[in-house]
Amino acid sequence: MENRNQRVVYLDYNATTPMHPDVVREMTICLRDYFGNPSTLYAHGQTARKIIKEARKHVADIIHASEGEIVFTSGGTEADNLAILGVARANHTRREHIITTQIEHKAVLNSCRQLENEGFDVTFIPVDEFGMVKIEELKNAIRDNTILVSVMHANNEVGTIQPILEIGKMLKTKNIYFHVDAVQTVGKLPINVTEMGIDLLSMSAHKIYGPKGVGALYVKKGTKINPIQYGGHQERGLKPGTENVAGIAGFGKAVEVTRESMEKEERRMRTLRDRLYEGIRKSIKHIRLNGHPESGLSNTLNVSFEFTDVEFLIMELNKYGIYVASGSACTTFSLTPSHVLLAMGIPANMARSAIRFSLGRGNTEEDIDYVLEVLPGAVERYRSIPKRRGKDNVA
Ligand code: PLP
Repeated sequence: MENRNQRVVYLDYNATTPMHPDVVREMTICLRDYFGNPSTLYAHGQTARKIIKEARKHVADIIHASEGEIVFTSGGTEADNLAILGVARANHTRREHIITTQIEHKAVLNSCRQLENEGFDVTFIPVDEFGMVKIEELKNAIRDNTILVSVMHANNEVGTIQPILEIGKMLKTKNIYFHVDAVQTVGKLPINVTEMGIDLLSMSAHKIYGPKGVGALYVKKGTKINPIQYGGHQERGLKPGTENVAGIAGFGKAVEVTRESMEKEERRMRTLRDRLYEGIRKSIKHIRLNGHPESGLSNTLNVSFEFTDVEFLIMELNKYGIYVASGSACTTFSLTPSHVLLAMGIPANMARSAIRFSLGRGNTEEDIDYVLEVLPGAVERYRSIPKRRGKDNVA
């Protein structure tokens, strides 16, 4: 249970973010006053349609797409499913081939596994020790029947930013669809889908101070794609069903507010993240930085604390109101080490002792200093526990 008087330092913004006050305001008005079904002809319906149109413009603008290329979905997971299953099923004539990476979010990996069940071939290309996709491996994996490549823009666990521009340019010459999961980068990094050679791009509102359960897929004009659900004409038939008008309005507002402060926040996050890492490095021994030293999201820091147990550390920090993640939120309840860290070649014991700190708008220097006051003691407490033979990784 949460103690309301306790100081809280939330450092799990890659898992989800609190809604921005302007988003709450926008959605409240929508929920209270504009309940019309956007498919109806009378004024209530027209108002709802106008709200969706405005949001669509904000979402299109932030990635330099046109409004007609945005399909609202129920989140990043659905956007990934629609992109991968939709394009693969629409473009196969024989046993076709798809390429993705070993460090994708489960929404991509499991969509690809589903395609394997349906008879497609999938290549999961490896990454280097920093979590960077090996372009040569990607090039070598391309076959005559490759129809789709899916590579995430930045990894949610370690923050490594992939060479999307380079991959996009290479694929353009080969007539292969390029899908990018940009759930962790929209609103954090500049994105221009045309310049980057992207055909499909997944987004999610709740990572950028918008509501949960809303996202979008950019589908480049002319892309051959099938729906994965069946119903009405909404969202060009690619996401049938009455639209989540308030959620979409909230997403539009979230995009607007994050876009305004994107550059400033990027710099601020970088300063805070570096302060945190420097502090950890100076005060705690036997640590390992997981991720790319230069090409990483400015808000993300993933560190292994050797000879500790990550669950112990998370619960210790929780006692002080500090909320961090082990690897990714989606694997929190599974005891297996993160597939991302393993793909980077990090030994299982180090992968099991990794903490992801992901920063956001609410964080200050004081928050970082508070974490640096608490964390070394928590690590030390675990390391000084007499070891249970066979359980711990300490020699
Ligand atoms: N892709 C990435 C990279 C993510 O980090 C997440 C969420 O953690 C998703 C997809 C899924 O997004 P959503 O939670 O909106 O379904």
